Amino acid sequence: MSEPEDMIRFDRVVKRFGDTVVLDELDFAVQPGQRVTLIGPSGSGKTTILRLLMTLERVDGGTIHVGGECLTHVRRGGRLVPADEKHLRAVRKRIGMVFQQFNLFPNMRVLRNVTEAPVHVLGLPVEEARQRARELLELVGLADKLDAYPAQLSGGQQQRVAIARALAMRPDVLLLDEITSALDPELAAEVLDVLRDVARSSDITMLCVTHAMKFARDVSDRVLMFDQGRIVEDKPPEELFECPEHERTRRFLRSVL
Ligand code: ADP
Repeated sequence: MSEPEDMIRFDRVVKRFGDTVVLDELDFAVQPGQRVTLIGPSGSGKTTILRLLMTLERVDGGTIHVGGECLTHVRRGGRLVPADEKHLRAVRKRIGMVFQQFNLFPNMRVLRNVTEAPVHVLGLPVEEARQRARELLELVGLADKLDAYPAQLSGGQQQRVAIARALAMRPDVLLLDEITSALDPELAAEVLDVLRDVARSSDITMLCVTHAMKFARDVSDRVLMFDQGRIVEDKPPEELFECPEHERTRRFLRSVL
């Protein structure tokens, strides 16, 4: 069952693709306001975890809770049945996501990219949505780019718009999937700085998947090392990077650092 203090909770989650078991009764929880990074070799199930939270995939077993609410199932006639689309839409509103490819609307200016979903999905009055968008674009250092089109921005700037756009929905949880991996180191550092500011100025819960160990070190207060769909180690970054306990973690860190 979900504990009220958990913002994200996986209970015995199973996910298969055909005959491949990607997650095998995975348990883990993230408390409100925690910044958690998932690291581990390619194919270890990290992206699948984010996709399950975004309801882009369905579980084959177990349950997922977000903010105390069950994401995967609803109770009907005293029985738990898989969640329907209406339930998924409601829970999905609590979750923001930023992808490796920024996925901005190319035909809309920056400000409109950020106001579009709050106006059309949340039903916010346009002026209120604009005001909030301006504040967020200032937070990500783009107050002077409100009228630009995405193609007129650098990759780092586009990614910062994508972060503002996700935050504009006021989600409880922000999911970040390899958001710096398409960027040059300098632009990646810009995005990292912005996320640090976001983390400082809000109590949003963050779950990040990254291959950038600096990102994991700087932004998170917990790092989960995955291998073959299991958590091998779960520690604050300084402990995990300085004295990894498991040979699997040491081998992985040697390959990426
Ligand atoms: P990671 O993010 O750690 O690289 P993924 O979650 O992307 O790992 O993938 C975990 C495993 O699931 C891999 O073996 C991958 O090939 C498999 N997988 C992921 N998505 C699909 C899919 N849509 N169809 C089939 N197999 C998939």
